[in-house]
Amino acid sequence: MLKQNRIYINGKWQDSSGTERIQVINPATEAVVGEVTAGTAEDIDLAVAAARAALPSWSTTSPEVRAGYMRQIHQELVARAPELAELITNELGMPFKLSQRIQAGLPAFVLNSYVELLETFEFSEKIGHSLVIKDPIGVVAAITPWNYPLHQLMIKVAAALAAGCTLVAKPSEITPLNAFVLADIIDSCGLPPGVFNLVSGYGPVVGEALAIHPDVDMVSFTGSTRAGKRVSVLAAESVKRVALELGGKSAAILLDDAPLETAIKATVNNCFINSGQTCSAHTRMLVPEELYDEASQLAVQIAAKFAPGSPHDIKTRIGPLVSAQQRDRVVEYIRTGINEGAELLLGGEESPEGLPLGFYVQPTVFGKVSSDMTIAREEIFGPVLCIMPYRDEEDAIRIANDSIYGLAGGVWSENSDRAERVARRLQTGQVDINGGRFNLLAPFGGYKQSGNGRELGTYGLEEFLQVKSLQY
Ligand code: NAD
Repeated sequence: MLKQNRIYINGKWQDSSGTERIQVINPATEAVVGEVTAGTAEDIDLAVAAARAALPSWSTTSPEVRAGYMRQIHQELVARAPELAELITNELGMPFKLSQRIQAGLPAFVLNSYVELLETFEFSEKIGHSLVIKDPIGVVAAITPWNYPLHQLMIKVAAALAAGCTLVAKPSEITPLNAFVLADIIDSCGLPPGVFNLVSGYGPVVGEALAIHPDVDMVSFTGSTRAGKRVSVLAAESVKRVALELGGKSAAILLDDAPLETAIKATVNNCFINSGQTCSAHTRMLVPEELYDEASQLAVQIAAKFAPGSPHDIKTRIGPLVSAQQRDRVVEYIRTGINEGAELLLGGEESPEGLPLGFYVQPTVFGKVSSDMTIAREEIFGPVLCIMPYRDEEDAIRIANDSIYGLAGGVWSENSDRAERVARRLQTGQVDINGGRFNLLAPFGGYKQSGNGRELGTYGLEEFLQVKSLQY
């Protein structure tokens, strides 16, 4: 068991002022695999003070110096990738094979992308008789969720460091252990004290202490829409910048000329990856009503191949949900779907057979889902696909946009001009056309209640900058 009972402030591992501990549970075995400190508001005061004190020096270092530190961190991150993949699998339950590529691989890629960006990014530009300077925004609070824990954290850490900001990181209390490895790496690379600080703990305590803190200049928050709203309210007190990356209920539109089997395979995979615990998952699959029978049969055949199993079994494509609470929430949504009249085509509320331990849910497919049903409106965050029949292209666009969320989506058609025409009308921050791959340099973020921030690449860097104009 991994005990991380200290927090990282001002370049030192220190005791928290609190004594409460948070246990980390392996969702596949239900065993306690670790423990972290439940930090306090006093811890946050110390961490913010350290970040504030480090700011004048760090914010005026050259991009080359910052890139130098980040390059070292990247090297260590790559060296410790197998350990991180294993750790995150044990905290989260994602199959190890996928964890290697996604949970450990993506953060290294993202960090390196910011090292490279620093070689070309212009921190000033001329506009007529003005010189526009891009300054770091200052002290950043990075509050992150559990579903892609190191990736979410690294997106913020890499962009903030590149911008010249200092930060206090508050990882999810459900999967916090990987953030301690990152802090250890940062410590070993000799980043100046106070530039990066880590305080573990609960959202309503340390998260809120950061959001309301007058000496924090920006909160970069990834998590639920519910908590994002709360953070915004608290942050408004000091008019700090708030960048929100929130939930989603994304739609994949299969147009009537879509390559049906390919599109359904990709959509099911997209919906079920990480046990459906992905903010941008395509959880609503919109199919033309005349193709509904064929599409739903195919979806069931494809989804049935996602048998839940141990994350350490090489054949497993879908592991448990992250916690008992998350499992119970998802099962409740499945019940609601049945009660509201959706057609249960695969799966259901019973636990999968042969897995007496672990927070497993059967991969579930609902058919004939309509926009007024709860399962079509709310983020389930589990392996539940909703198939929604539509009349024509206009109807498909209307259904896709009929959501408080707008994070991602997909359009499938043999005719890519037609697909793009539809994609342009979707009120959402990302659209994959014919299975277009995730681009770690393109801006990622939501429309509507999916958030107001943009992460990754140049757009992600700009979030941590503020502009000043000098007139000559
Ligand atoms: P969550 O909102 O419960 O927690 C996210 C983080 O916020 C955690 O660190 C938590 O401790 C903290 N927090 C909780 N309440 C808080 C409060 N009152 N004040 C300050 N901080 C608080 O979300 P979660 O369950 O960890 O993550 C799942 C959610 O995150 C889903 O809704 C998912 O869609 C979303 N998500 C969005 C993105 C994106 O980029 N848009 C990426 C991943 C996850």
